Amino acid sequence: MRKTLTIALSKGRILGETLPLLEKANIVPAEDISKSRKLIFDTNHEHIKLVILRATDVPTYVEHGVADFGVAGKDVLMEAATKNLYELLDLKISKCRLMTAGVVDQPLPNRRLKVASKFSKTAKAYFAEQGIQADVIKLYGAMELAPIMGLADLIVDIVDTGNTLKANGLEARDLIAPISTRLVVNKAAYKTKYSEIEPILEMIRNAVEDNEGK
Ligand code: AMP
Repeated sequence: MRKTLTIALSKGRILGETLPLLEKANIVPAEDISKSRKLIFDTNHEHIKLVILRATDVPTYVEHGVADFGVAGKDVLMEAATKNLYELLDLKISKCRLMTAGVVDQPLPNRRLKVASKFSKTAKAYFAEQGIQADVIKLYGAMELAPIMGLADLIVDIVDTGNTLKANGLEARDLIAPISTRLVVNKAAYKTKYSEIEPILEMIRNAVEDNEGK
């Protein structure tokens, strides 16, 4: 009997690029995910299931082994800093950049910086690495407001086109890390389910190469 494999997918922006990639790898949900309120889906493979999670919960489900695979942005993986998983593959989708940003043309003050971010651990590590004194304030959304309202001198946020920053009078400053979506696997599952995992990994790897060759 083949062991069941569960793949945890991040909902939202990433999902729209993940599903076509999985389809190329011949992993297709049994019903239309966008038209359903369900969170667990069967696929065209009897032993493969998909679960749809909030992006930041994906590393947690994989770490605890309740999902074998996870699809999550590098930003989320960096912030989660989860030890119990292997990053197997760069899916090369949902590419963007994790950057610092501040008010257009506004120089930084000559004191300890105030930085606001949803990515508070990553931001702390970045400023420490740069040798810059900074207090990081954790936010859960609308980070662009923080510099405008005077809560912070800088934010650390995801930048794609830069339009969101621009619309709020902000500009991107320094690149912290290029971001793309990654396939991760639970370390224990990688050993105990190797014979089920390896063929799926190969199918997804081929789909990524196919996408790149386009
Ligand atoms: P943009 O205005 O194109 O620079 O997009 C920036 C906004 O979109 C940010 O507030 C991000 O939260 C979000 N965003 C853009 N690309 C991604 C991505 N690949 N993954 C997650 N969020 C993203």
